[in-house]
Amino acid sequence: MNPFVYASVSDARAALAALEGTPGARLVAGGTTLIDLMKLEVEQPPVLVDINALPLDRVEEQDGGLRVGAMVRNSDLAHHELVRTRYPVLSQALLAGASPQLRNMATTGGNLMQRTRCPYFRDLAARCNKRAPGSGCDALEGENRGHAILGTSEQCIATHPSDMAVALTALDARVRVLGGGGERVIPIGAFFLLPGLHPEREHALRPGELITAVDLPPLAFGRRSLYLKVRDRSSYAFALASAAVALDLDGGTIRGARVSLGGIGTRPWRSPEAERALAGKRPTAATFGAAAAAALAGAKVRRHNAFKVELAQKTLMRALARAAALT
Ligand code: SF4
Repeated sequence: MNPFVYASVSDARAALAALEGTPGARLVAGGTTLIDLMKLEVEQPPVLVDINALPLDRVEEQDGGLRVGAMVRNSDLAHHELVRTRYPVLSQALLAGASPQLRNMATTGGNLMQRTRCPYFRDLAARCNKRAPGSGCDALEGENRGHAILGTSEQCIATHPSDMAVALTALDARVRVLGGGGERVIPIGAFFLLPGLHPEREHALRPGELITAVDLPPLAFGRRSLYLKVRDRSSYAFALASAAVALDLDGGTIRGARVSLGGIGTRPWRSPEAERALAGKRPTAATFGAAAAAALAGAKVRRHNAFKVELAQKTLMRALARAAALT
């Protein structure tokens, strides 16, 4: 690990000042991604600004929804009574991620900022456009079983790793950020960027900005929501495919739906195509199959990951069927 300067701050303005004063400075909260990457020398910040003392660790009711502070730990959020009852999809997604020890450390803001698990990204001997722009991408012709099939480019096919972000995408969450120009709000659908020609740009944060909170808008049918994750082993593994769904049922008809997919996209993958295929239909296996087909219609597979198309479709169909059966 390279030497770095450690600084601790206790308010957001001090954090912003520390970021502004040192190019390349990074914020650290739980450290569950950043410290690993520093040990691998993938990340080499000259200054690490510890924000664990920032008073951003509360979950509060706000405009009929919830405001989740950026420093709320994943465990606390998953087990929060209002999250479990109003947004079960979020609670389940959090509990599907990582391990209890990691969830006790990882924060809401840090989870949004976690980086891909593409093995080539973490290997300094490999070519990786995300880590070293313009160097190439060894995943394109290499071992790409876990890589994305939606939202890819010829520069990068890395899968977004977060379970939490998949649920937040289905919930239309909003990310509150603070910077030198004041506070602004970024819809979650605009927060994560597609790789395109610049896979090194992963999110819409401007230099020197800090995530302060995530807002969850009210969702009347949020109780009929769930998260289903398929992976190589039953815990402590990243998704091969996952689905965050919510259904608004009116008798025997689907009035509306939210569908977001994980493990298959370069960012958490909201599927308006699937939502349109569900709206106004009866909640049958045929309807769910049509929605799943619509969601994966744009998939582009590589040598080792073609299986993800069917896996993602079946994961979504099963999630929708389970959501429809909820009382
Ligand atoms: Fe790097 Fe993306 Fe290619 Fe992985 S898929 S090696 S992260 S450029």
